[in-house]
Amino acid sequence: MAKENKNNELMEKIISLCKRRGFVFPGSEIYGGFAGTYDFGPYGVALRRNVVDAWTKAMQEHENISLIDSSIFTVGKVWEASGHVSGFSDPMVICKECHTKQRADHLLSSIEVKADEKITEKEINKIFDENRDKIKCPVCGKKNFGQISAKSLLATSTLGMFEEGDAQVYLRGETAQGIFINYKNILDSGFNKVPFGLAQVGKAFRNEISPRQFLFRKREFEQMEMQYFVPEKDARKVYEEWRIERMAYYERLGIKKEKLKWKQHENLVFYAKDAWDIEYEFPFGWNELEGIHYRGDYDLTQHQKFSGVDMSVYDEETKERFIPNVIETSVGVDRTILMLLSEAYTEDEMNGEKRVFLRFKPNMAPVKIAVFPLLKNKPQLIEKAREVYKNLKKEFGAVMFDDNGNIGKRYRRQDEIGTPFCVTVDFDTIEKDDTVTVRDRDSGKQERIKIEELVNYLKNKLG
Ligand code: ATP
Repeated sequence: MAKENKNNELMEKIISLCKRRGFVFPGSEIYGGFAGTYDFGPYGVALRRNVVDAWTKAMQEHENISLIDSSIFTVGKVWEASGHVSGFSDPMVICKECHTKQRADHLLSSIEVKADEKITEKEINKIFDENRDKIKCPVCGKKNFGQISAKSLLATSTLGMFEEGDAQVYLRGETAQGIFINYKNILDSGFNKVPFGLAQVGKAFRNEISPRQFLFRKREFEQMEMQYFVPEKDARKVYEEWRIERMAYYERLGIKKEKLKWKQHENLVFYAKDAWDIEYEFPFGWNELEGIHYRGDYDLTQHQKFSGVDMSVYDEETKERFIPNVIETSVGVDRTILMLLSEAYTEDEMNGEKRVFLRFKPNMAPVKIAVFPLLKNKPQLIEKAREVYKNLKKEFGAVMFDDNGNIGKRYRRQDEIGTPFCVTVDFDTIEKDDTVTVRDRDSGKQERIKIEELVNYLKNKLG
């Protein structure tokens, strides 16, 4: 359960940079905003792509993992089978003074009182009543709350519903169910045999009571999930392997070791065999980044029961049929982006001036290289710079041309969006030796490189 109560100065700076520089905007902003939604501008989209590509590549390193793309809408029965219709809810309480809706479990955790995820409405009301005098509204500071009621996180839709009595339809609350209901299709199409994994990236929707902390808790968000189907006898070993692999993945993304930690779920849902989260130290405190869960055979068994379709496979050794266990890894694209931004945001001083820069690992940076002519009003410089730009763009794609303002301003602008290398065409380039300067974002140091060696030089640096 999230503890979202630490200092938010860094968050404010990140949010403001994201808006100012075209990474992320509040959803429906010109109409006053729509809580829990965000729109992504050009650099934000580039960052999203890099995140999704890195995750997808990590999954594709396994020869028995395939990608799928299931629909956002399914028949409502899928969510009955999964248990979401009856049990996917959060406890909501309304502040009687400022009328804001709050998560009762988060209010309790802010005073160090734990409310288990599976707690009943009655039980949490009792705990809340015992602590009412200590719980302040985080919005108005008063201590006057109503009764707690459980609110479903599933967002309903009317897609395909035309008559009274038509079964209720939902927007998917997680991408995982799309994988479970396609597991049989993948087996039948001969694509994979158990053990195998299915990986998917896609939007999910949750009616979060109190969406907040920017990209951390949205109502419309994107998940990257992988479900690995494995015989029970091997499941524990495979689970441990996935735990090691997923932590190593974040270290490969450039996240500092000390900002990541494991947290085991204390109270497992009845079918789960084990569950750990990787937590990251966000600016507002330690919180879940990814869940790695050993789910037993519950999901497939439930879908077998509700759909009537046999989910079992034949074991050549024992000559018996069995339903595979599931190991799941599940992480949000948006939470990963917030982690990368939090990790990258840096303030320092360069040449006696304060600067803000995003220290992304080069392969995660939205723009890899920026190309400048030293001066804007010298046609030969512009011509040469555009030639260099075009060549680099062909090679690296995410390359920008900038001739706006003086060179110092251009460096600052690129620093702020995290561009690792700036290439400048100057008078030596055209009059002397066909070299350009390449400036390193983090150190500010410049090197002169021959244009004909530039692509290889940058390839090595970008990794
Ligand atoms: P939390 O306890 O923070 O609400 P959860 O345990 O409900 O998260 P899961 O259902 O395990 O989350 O979802 C898997 C992953 O999807 C999470 O680890 C997170 O990265 C992402 N995720 C879940 N809910 C949201 C949300 N509202 N906004 C953004 N990302 C989310």
